[in-house]
Amino acid sequence: MQATNAFFLDGAWVSATGRDTLAVIDPATEQQIASVPAGTEDDVDRAVVAARAAFEDWAARPPADRAALLSAAADALEARTDEVALLISTEMGTPLAFSKAVQVGNPVRVLRSYAEILSTFCFEQRIANSLVVKEPIGVVAAITPWNYPLHQVVAKVAAALAAGCTVVLKPSEMAPLSAFALAEIFHEVGLPAGVFNLVTGLGPVVGEALAQHPDVDMVSFTGSTAAGKRVMAVAAETVKKVSLELGGKSAFVVLDDADLAKAAKVGLANCFLNGGQTCTAWTRMLVPAAQYDEVLSLLEAGAAKYPVGPPTDAGTRVGPLANARQYERVVGYIERAIADGATVVAGGPERPEGLQTGYYVRPTVLAGVAPGSAIEQEEVFGPVLAVLPYDTEDEAVAIANGTPYGLSGGVFSGDQERAVRMARRMRTGMVDVNGGRFNPLAPFGGYKQSGNGRELGEYGLEEFLEVKSLQL
Ligand code: NAD
Repeated sequence: MQATNAFFLDGAWVSATGRDTLAVIDPATEQQIASVPAGTEDDVDRAVVAARAAFEDWAARPPADRAALLSAAADALEARTDEVALLISTEMGTPLAFSKAVQVGNPVRVLRSYAEILSTFCFEQRIANSLVVKEPIGVVAAITPWNYPLHQVVAKVAAALAAGCTVVLKPSEMAPLSAFALAEIFHEVGLPAGVFNLVTGLGPVVGEALAQHPDVDMVSFTGSTAAGKRVMAVAAETVKKVSLELGGKSAFVVLDDADLAKAAKVGLANCFLNGGQTCTAWTRMLVPAAQYDEVLSLLEAGAAKYPVGPPTDAGTRVGPLANARQYERVVGYIERAIADGATVVAGGPERPEGLQTGYYVRPTVLAGVAPGSAIEQEEVFGPVLAVLPYDTEDEAVAIANGTPYGLSGGVFSGDQERAVRMARRMRTGMVDVNGGRFNPLAPFGGYKQSGNGRELGEYGLEEFLEVKSLQL
């Protein structure tokens, strides 16, 4: 693979202006596996100049040309699945089989989906005497997190390129390696110079330089709510569009006519996916009080089926957490929840047996969690499930909607229509009903402090388009 000691700017690998580097750590071994340059404001400037220079030509290309390049990139990425999946598992700890199927599989699907959408998407509309044209917004800064390091990148970059925008990407400094592979792929398939640019570095330096840059037209940000607020504040000076995909504290509402065994299984799988480091994870399970004890025993038995171990072991379902900061944070939340009165149904704050090195935690189920406590209100971002009883459906709705977040959720019921009625009452951007599958063409995004943008499918494309009306 391409050495990670350079930036990809204006179609070439070039040295950073500064000498500082950032270490990339394997969370299973706590050893450094690579380093990337710590970018500066000057590096950002060079990238934005390249993206601006490339914009007019790229925006004017027929959609079919842009689609062909996205499609070629999908094929090239798919051909490198094993290599890129291993990179991702090594930089952030997710089990290798999951890396192949999802961490690389999803970006391949998303690249292809935009190639397909371009074949039918209508960039013009007549409204009475007006012609409404949808035009690319311009130079886009994409800032992304470490939990689905390539998927978060591709969800933005594929849509932005499809729209005719040019991009400067700043991936997470914790898991930047797959972004280098993507740059290499774009280069190989012949994306014109300057259309895609990669600068690595720290959020407060490179991220803020992008957010405040007068020649960046839009910031598309995925990450924590705290950093998203800062990006929005910094970007306000130039009135640029800011699209935010932020944190969550999603609820899974089990109704009293649900198949409890199935609900417990689906709920655990959702919460523990990717070591609980999924923004849409259902981290609060809301259960009818009369069925609370039964569900807790099902969850205790179910949690035992999540072996923790190295990402490359075939039996591992939960790898190490992605980094030391995340480990401290998750263990701290479990300890605080216990101090606040929660009881441990499964797992707990101690290290899993036999795993003394690496950022491993036990998949944990907590009962007796009080509404309003930290574990009930705040995003943990680890394999920690809080189970809460409720008496009436109105109470379930109040608990589900009672956090500052509104990203995702789930409902389980023996009656699909009843489940849909509950889903409609949830103030959240996405709800899976009776285990409904992830759909890479459906809009993805949150209400309230979970963000204001939508990614994937046509809605994701629209984010990167301006609307102009011509009166004829
Ligand atoms: P983070 O906010 O620490 O970092 C995300 C990105 O923002 C990184 O590239 C980081 O360098 C950058 N950044 C940090 N401070 C910045 C600043 N002041 N200005 C500009 N950029 C800055 O988040 P993380 O720890 O990498 O990721 C976990 C978070 O991401 C969780 O809160 C999770 O819920 C959220 N997330 C949301 C979605 C979604 O689609 N809603 C998807 C995945 C992750």
